[in-house]
Order: sequence, then C-alpha cells, then structure tokens
Amino acid sequence: MTKLAVSIFVESTAQAHAAAARAAEGGADLIEYRIDRFTEPDCHLPGLVETSPLPCILTCRPIWEGGLCELDDEQRLKVFERAMTASRPPAYIDIELDSYHRSSSVRNIVARWVDHPGQVGPADAGLILSSHDFERRPVDLYQRIEAMAAAPACRVIKLAWQVRSLRDNIEAFEIMRQGYKPTIAVCMGEAGLPSRILAKKFNALLSFTTLDERESTAPGQPTIEQAKSLYRWDAIGPLTKVYGVIGYPVAHSMSPAIHNAGFDETGFDGVYLPMPIPPDYTHFKATVGAWLDMPELHFRGASVTIPHKENLLRFVQERGGQIEPLAARIGAANTLTVTEDGGLFASNTDYAAALDAVCNSLGIGRDGLAGKRIAVIGAGGAARAIVAGFAAAGATVVIYNRTLARADEIARAFTAGGTAEPAATAAELSGPAPPQGKVVAAPLEKLCDSCCHIYINCTPIGMHPHTDDSPINPSDAPRSWGEGTVVFDTIYNPIETRLLREARTAGCLTIPGTEMFTRQAAAQFEMWTGKQAPLDVIERAMRQK
Ligand code: NAP
Repeated sequence: MTKLAVSIFVESTAQAHAAAARAAEGGADLIEYRIDRFTEPDCHLPGLVETSPLPCILTCRPIWEGGLCELDDEQRLKVFERAMTASRPPAYIDIELDSYHRSSSVRNIVARWVDHPGQVGPADAGLILSSHDFERRPVDLYQRIEAMAAAPACRVIKLAWQVRSLRDNIEAFEIMRQGYKPTIAVCMGEAGLPSRILAKKFNALLSFTTLDERESTAPGQPTIEQAKSLYRWDAIGPLTKVYGVIGYPVAHSMSPAIHNAGFDETGFDGVYLPMPIPPDYTHFKATVGAWLDMPELHFRGASVTIPHKENLLRFVQERGGQIEPLAARIGAANTLTVTEDGGLFASNTDYAAALDAVCNSLGIGRDGLAGKRIAVIGAGGAARAIVAGFAAAGATVVIYNRTLARADEIARAFTAGGTAEPAATAAELSGPAPPQGKVVAAPLEKLCDSCCHIYINCTPIGMHPHTDDSPINPSDAPRSWGEGTVVFDTIYNPIETRLLREARTAGCLTIPGTEMFTRQAAAQFEMWTGKQAPLDVIERAMRQK
C-alpha cells in the first residue's frame, strides 16, 4: 500500500519533533527528515530518529542535488553515521545516485547500514537511491533507473524531475507500474500534481507531502491536508476513475473541491484533479489524447473551461465521438465524458444550468420560459451559451453589449431563421433545427429602455476585486426594474454582487451565479457517476472554497 510521507524541512530537532507530531496527527504514514537544513550539531540526530512518532527517512541533500548541505560526500556520511547510532534506526536513508556511483567508499560505508543481500552485520534501514532534476527530464532517465535497479543494496528507486506538461505524468505512471523495485516517481511543478496524488493508484512506494505550503521541499508538493481532504488520498485505489478541470490557469478553480466532496458523499470511486493545459489546440490534443490512451489511468471525464471550450468540440469530433447538438450550435462545450469502452461525448452544462437556475427561482418548468423576454448583458462565451438555451426554450432574448457587432453575431446565429453561421468549429458540426425564440441585439446604452422579465449579467462587471461596479445603475435602471422582475448575475465571486444587492433592494427576485455554477457541476457529476448529485454538499464545498 502506497504510503503518504510528510517531508520536514526545518532548522532544528526541536522544530522537527513538533512538526513530526503534527504529521502523525495529520495521518501521515512516514516522515522524511531533511537534515540538510539543520543548523545545530548532529549529536541530536540519534534522539530525533529514536523518538520519531512514525518510521522515518533520513535525507541530507547536497547543494548540487537541490538541497542545502555544503559538505562533501565523506563528511555527509559522517552525519548519517551519527544518526545510525540510534537504538532504532531510520526506516530508510536517501543517498543520491551520483554520490553512490562515483565513490566505492560511499558504497562500502552505506552497505554497512542498510539491509541488503550481501550485508555482513545487522542492518535494518532500506536504501533509497535518488535522482533529482529541478530543470527538466534527465535525458538518461532510464539509464538511471537501470543503475538503481542493478545496485544490490538499493531497496527503493526514487526519481524526481521538473515537468512542463501534464502529459509528462504518463511517464511517471509507467515507471511506477513497471515496479523494478519499490519506486517513487515524482513530477515536480504545478503540472506534476497527478504523479503525486495518483502514486497510490499506480502502487508507488510513497508520495511526499508537506505540512505547510511555505515549507515544501519541491515545487508542486501538496500539503498532507490537501492530499487527504481535497484529493481523497485514502479512497484512491488501482481502479479509481480520474476526472479533472482542464483550463489555463486552473490553480484557483473551485471544481476539485466540489467534485471530490461529491465523490466522497456518494462513495463514488473517483478523484478529480486540476489539469492545466496551455492555450492552443496542439497542447490540448496531445495531452488529452495521451491521458485517454493510457487505459490503466481510467481517465473518465473533465470539466473544460477557458481557453479550451472550443478545442473540446474539435477534439471529440476528430476522435469520432458524439457532440450534444446544442453544444455544437453554441460552438463550445464544457464537459467531456468518457465511457467505459473509450467513447467520447462533449456537452455543455452551462446553458442548462442557467435555465434551471431561473426556472427553479420562478417555480416553473422550461416550457414556462416560452414567450418570456430575457435581457442578456454581454456577448462573450457565457452569453452565447445562455442565449442559445433561452432561445431554444422559446424565449425572446435581447443581447445588450458594449460591442454591438458581437451581440449581432450571436443574434443571427440563434434567432429563428437566423442566417449567421455559429462559431467556426460548430459550423462544421451537425446541429439541430434552428431554435424557436427570437434573438435581437442592442447597444448597451439602450438597456435603460428595456422592458424585460429577466435580466442576466454575462459580463465580469462587479466581479472580485471590482465589487463596487455594476452593469446597471439604479438611477438609470431598465423600465421593468422592480417587483416581478428577475435579476440573475452569472458572477459567483462575490456571491452577492452590487447588481444583486441593488436589485433586491428594488424588489426584484435575485439569483446568484453560484446557482448556475453548482448546477452545471451537478449536471457533470450526474453524467459521470450516474448518481444524483448531492447539491447541499456541492454548495457547501463551494462556499468554503
Ligand atoms: P467573455 O467571453 O470575456 O465576455 C465578456 C463580455 O463582457 C463581453 O461581451 C464584453 O464586452 C463584456 N464586458 C467586459 N467588460 C466590460 C465592461 N467593462 N463594460 C461593458 N461590457 C464589458 O467572458 P465570459 O466567459 O462570457 O464570462 C462572462 C461572465 O460570466 C464572467 O463574469 C464569468 O464569471 C461568468 N460565468 C459564470 C459561470 C457560472 O457558472 N456562474 C459560468 C461561465 C461564466 P465586449 O464584447 O464589448 O468586449
């Protein structure tokens, strides 16, 4: 069973004792003491090892391998030697492959301490031979693995290298799977998180975490709290299905918290990760293709956000998958679903979530939207999906936008009998019959003359940190402003925007963007798991985040 280790990188044994106690409380299985940062004499080391609350790894990383120790190999071994006088030795010692290789004296001394076939005296510690590259994948990665595998004293192979792309994790998964010997394979950097969290899926010896982000020993290392609570470490097994949010950037996405909380609540065997993919179709195709082409990964779906919503349609079309007809007309999809036999389906849960948020507030079904007049403010990606949904439901939609030409283009694409082609990728795709509602475009300045039932803000005006802004000034409000009117802000940070606050004061019925966000996530959840989404859990996870 893959262990969760906490790397402790502090200056003194007193700090290390305190950190080790916290790691044990936090549910770690192992502790790595990074003694290269210690500023006190090594006479304290035996005590640290003996009283460690968990089995430990002792590491004294030299500067030339990314650590802080300035001593040469011989002096470094003397530090280890002191620690090895502990009555209870460390479970492992970590020695860099390069030190081990270049000096027979290092090999001979280390052989006295570690458990291996040719040992002469009693020795319990296991030898981790390690290799780190903080810049790139080493060109001789596989030669390194072979050298470690061939060393009789080596019990564990450890490789860590900096990655630029999510695709690079696949190589780490393969190395873990090959299992020449117990293995640790770490992709460093933001894109390397899957190698750390899915180490358990691929039966690696362990994965490293930190107690506190500020004390991490390598780029991209999660905290133990994140690994266990956010990314479901304890629930991960070889058959766990993998999902993620594809976008750029995605580091602050709420989706991992939401979906993993939902998986937890329903007992679904899945894990959901951030999947940063740089803009442009080439990256998208290569990365998503590589993840799909590794069957043992069980990659079963993704939420897809800016800038890849159009790329998803193109990719699924090229791979011969299915596309939801309205998503094809919108020209953007936000959900990838992968069936057990590898079939792909691209759909858009944004427009349905917006429709359902409005219908739920009004206590009506979607058929009740026919004939309603909807003002959509903005003409970007969110507006396009929302206009398509309301028009398909038979509503009359007026798009108010700063740039009239953009509103015009959407109006022509989605009005009944409209002549404009939808977005370029969608034009190549087969869509359903033209929608029934009428869609017209208007300049933003005309909003004050509007007389609609429902107003939907699809601009970022009022979003954090510009929370004092609003797309509608109360002194210049639309004619239908007040009781009986619905105001829906797609922004979800803050939950109550200035627009919603002022609309509520004026007696309007208000809907926050969180309603849309949770519903689009819930629809994805249901598509992937076949289970009813726990809306209360999803909402709570989102509010906490
Ligand atoms: P987008 O493609 O960049 O479009 C933004 C639109 O807002 C454009 O039409 C732009 O007008 C207009 N706009 C921007 N700044 C403006 C300003 N200062 N004054 C007047 N108009 C302005 O963005 P998007 O992807 O559609 O997202 C828009 C909003 O929807 C965001 O706030 C996002 O948070 C929200 N959203 C929410 C959810 C949810 O689940 N709740 C989902 C998706 C999006 P021009 O055409 O003139 O440039």
